Amino acid sequence: MTRPNQNPGQREAAKPRRRATLSPEAYVSGVLAGDRGILARAITLIESTSPLHEAQAQEVLQRLLPHTGKSKRIGITGVPGVGKSTFIETFGCFLVEQGRKLAVLTIDPTSKRSGGSILGDKTRMERLSRDPRAFIRPSPAGDSLGGVARRTRETLLLCEAAGFDTVLVETVGVGQSETALRSMVDFFLLLLLPGAGDELQGIKKGIIEMADAVLINKADGDNRLRAEQARAEQENALHCLQPATPGWRTEVSLCSGLTGQGVPETWKMVERFYVQFEPSGLIAKRRQQQSLEWLSTLVNDELLRRFYHDPRVKTRLAALQQALLRGDTTAVLAARELLGSYGGAL
Ligand code: GDP
Repeated sequence: MTRPNQNPGQREAAKPRRRATLSPEAYVSGVLAGDRGILARAITLIESTSPLHEAQAQEVLQRLLPHTGKSKRIGITGVPGVGKSTFIETFGCFLVEQGRKLAVLTIDPTSKRSGGSILGDKTRMERLSRDPRAFIRPSPAGDSLGGVARRTRETLLLCEAAGFDTVLVETVGVGQSETALRSMVDFFLLLLLPGAGDELQGIKKGIIEMADAVLINKADGDNRLRAEQARAEQENALHCLQPATPGWRTEVSLCSGLTGQGVPETWKMVERFYVQFEPSGLIAKRRQQQSLEWLSTLVNDELLRRFYHDPRVKTRLAALQQALLRGDTTAVLAARELLGSYGGAL
């Protein structure tokens, strides 16, 4: 990964460092004191796959839980090239100028699988990453979206405990990661390009349905007219959809990460959202719902993992697949036998 600068404590390296781990107390007090070095090490701890680290990380997280939950959690997505990093840089610089303490996190499930990442392997957000008021953490590496999303979610909690009052979580809009993102943020921003149809942008209707705001980005220079048209089209399309947040009209507006046009208005809109939904309890309810969903996702993922790693299941699976293809058994009978052969503990 390209690091735009080597200033420790600002853009933090995702790789585990070869340093002795601290005691859970030291992590907890360091994070609560807002010590960026310790925050970065605590994040590295939760990214570790070692069972010992995992146990320590969970202890640290549990102790920090009472200090979490106080940030505005904002998700941003859009296809590669839509201008996410440029927008986050401008938006982020605007936010820190407003006195906000900002953390920027990413969910990029491609960061390990393809050997390179869509979001992380280019120089991104140089100005913001040099700003001491912002904390940028690249996407954790991982084999599965579930694992990557889990680490980002836990990093978000650590950042809140460290006193960040605004957390932007970004993901690239090309697959399932938007759903994972939606399930950890309060407000969800979708960036679109002017003049490219939804299909061209790889945007599924389901993603537009998840958005609390649609920003037609790059609405500058020659793009302006096309951006206006795109806004009218999106507004029409949204008329037929349920809003992502009941009682909130999903807004479509124009912006430019390059010129900063529309950036203050975007923040005003986010603030309006909180003014409307924090007192009504909707945000707290949404977060509770998200926690319950997260719990069932964790259980479901672990059950599946245990099942498919069971030696007896592994042996029977191939034979049953063949039998099914030959027409010697039905899918229902094969599934029943496979489930019956599972020997592990649930
Ligand atoms: P990302 O892949 O979504 O993070 O997109 P980038 O922020 O890396 O931007 C992709 C390209 O679009 C770069 O060449 C940017 O200079 C350009 N770009 C980004 N934002 C804007 C904008 O608001 N207006 C214009 N005209 N170009 C932009």
